[in-house]
Amino acid sequence: MPEPKDIRLLPDGIHIVWDDGHQGYHEHRALRYQCGCAECVNELTGKRVISLSDVRRDVEALDYAQVGRYALQFLWSDFHLTGIYPFETLRRLCQCEECRKAKAEAGAKTGPQPG
Ligand SMILES: [Zn+2]
Ligand SMILES: [Zn+2]
Repeated sequence: MPEPKDIRLLPDGIHIVWDDGHQGYHEHRALRYQCGCAECVNELTGKRVISLSDVRRDVEALDYAQVGRYALQFLWSDFHLTGIYPFETLRRLCQCEECRKAKAEAGAKTGPQPG
């Protein structure tokens, strides 16, 4: 599993350079919405209990920490910090140009788009 080598929290989003050379990108709000903690996802049903409109439009990641060797944790500007994002999830949710194209070509089912 690739690991993040360089993580930058920039005004336009979260940029992650992976050790396999992939240049990942996530919009702040999109990634905040994908939080998998017990407040955001029902642990029993696995269903998301927040909707995108519950997430502040101007939310952004203020800081991050690596959790072991498998995940990242972000401190969001709405003070939500319980969410842990496994590397695998981050790669799956990656919104860089390359991944967007690959997903479009694969005809993958996409959820509601942010914005
Ligand atoms: Zn959460
Ligand atoms: Zn990507």
